[in-house]
Amino acid sequence: MHALTRIVATIGPATATADAVRRLVASGMNVARLNGSHNTLAWHAATIQTIRQAAPQVPILLDVPGKKIRTAMLDHEPQFDAGDTIVLTTDATYQGSDKVVVKHPTLHELVAPGQRLFADDGTLEFEVTAVQGKDIFCRAGNAGTLRSRKGINLPGLDFGAVSLTADDHAMMAFARDQGVDFVGISFVESACHVAMIRKAAGPKGPRIVAKIESARGIENLEDVVAACDAVMIDRGDLAVETDLASVTLQQKRILEAAIRAAKPVIVATEMLHSMIENPYPTKAEVADITNAILDGCAAMMLSGETAVGKFPDKAVGLMRRVAAEVEPVLEPARMPQPQGDSTFSVGEAINLLCRTMPITKIVAVTRTGHAARVISAYYPRQPILAVSDDPGAARRIALYRGVEGVTLPFRFTRQSADHIADAIEYLWQTDRVSDADLILAAAVSYPRQGNRLNSIQIHKIGDLVEVLGWVRWSDASAPKGILKAIARPQSAETAHA
Ligand code: ATP
Ligand code: MG
Ligand code: MG
Repeated sequence: MHALTRIVATIGPATATADAVRRLVASGMNVARLNGSHNTLAWHAATIQTIRQAAPQVPILLDVPGKKIRTAMLDHEPQFDAGDTIVLTTDATYQGSDKVVVKHPTLHELVAPGQRLFADDGTLEFEVTAVQGKDIFCRAGNAGTLRSRKGINLPGLDFGAVSLTADDHAMMAFARDQGVDFVGISFVESACHVAMIRKAAGPKGPRIVAKIESARGIENLEDVVAACDAVMIDRGDLAVETDLASVTLQQKRILEAAIRAAKPVIVATEMLHSMIENPYPTKAEVADITNAILDGCAAMMLSGETAVGKFPDKAVGLMRRVAAEVEPVLEPARMPQPQGDSTFSVGEAINLLCRTMPITKIVAVTRTGHAARVISAYYPRQPILAVSDDPGAARRIALYRGVEGVTLPFRFTRQSADHIADAIEYLWQTDRVSDADLILAAAVSYPRQGNRLNSIQIHKIGDLVEVLGWVRWSDASAPKGILKAIARPQSAETAHA
């Protein structure tokens, strides 16, 4: 069975070796995520190298800390009972163990006694009892331990307009320099916020995954979805920032909005939380995965399960097994809504053809991946091979449901339609399609100079082989056309790498 739903796995101390990454890929991971809030930049740089080496085709998503407030790296992680007082301080120079440093320079000016404050994905609850200088005194609502680099949530508190700090710019520069494929932006509030990030990312920089995890993000949902490249539902912060009781309804609303705009959605947080400790999941977790797929998510994410968990491969493998059961029975309740972009109409037409003809594979000839994104958004059951002459685009495509990206070792032409047949021949030469396949190929081409043509072609591969006289490179005496230059087995190898 061809795997359709994407699995994003967070790489952390438990999985930051080449071997571990290879095992995650073998278990079903499609996208590797790094959380820039944890560990050092040097660790992230080394881990990015490890991932690229072990799995060059796997796109990397780097979450940049952005607006999320966290505790600092603590030498002493305080343990407390309900009713105990703990002191937070915004004084970053504090060295002792009586207070917990929080990374927000002016938080002490924004909070007042009576303010409710949460930590660690809402699992710890406090009430502010007093503010003295940079110290915030809090009474614990329940017993627990406040650990390093854990998120602090202050639902409803107004932090004013979003602006990018020097740290944010440094992190975006790091993401760009490292050539990561996507950046995940915490607490996205508006289209303007996404635009700021996009500017910092630069035109050739990473694509933007908007993490919707606050009331503001929900308020501006449609605009944020339109502005970003993909959406992540971070249920950890969302549940604390809005309302735990309605977090699943919010998830469904976000999914709907993104599906309408044909933007891939990643459902995140605690999908297999119990597998951090156990080699098996709870039935409720299996239900959560099943329902996220039935609701039309493109991807599901593992956080602590793979970053610090005891059973990272098992968690990925379990997710893949559940997905394989659900995908064949998925009848999506919602489809994209055409947005005055002809690609949507093409996507709709392809969807109809794929449901009424015995098509075995879809081939999307695409430079940027846009066509592959839209085709994928209509939930075809057939695998989509997206061929691009841009290696970055071919890798990013792996975030889209059911899409395998293939880098072509030659450039598309804007003078003819030849690159379509050449792309299909390349797929045949590299054994991604075979004579028995009935393919649907979607492409934009320029059959007469400058004359843009949107086309959908349906071919039996065996017929193309015969009519176009394709000869296997291994025994080719005289390959034709543009493929001539690359028709040596070793260059085909390099093209895959
Ligand atoms: P976010 O709001 O972005 O989800 P988070 O703190 O919840 O932030 P996750 O990415 O969900 O972080 O990861 C879950 C937990 O796994 C973290 O709280 C942290 O303890 C651990 N973790 C993740 N990445 C790393 C890493 N690179 N190094 C150390 N620990 C990590
Ligand atoms: Mg978050
Ligand atoms: Mg989290």
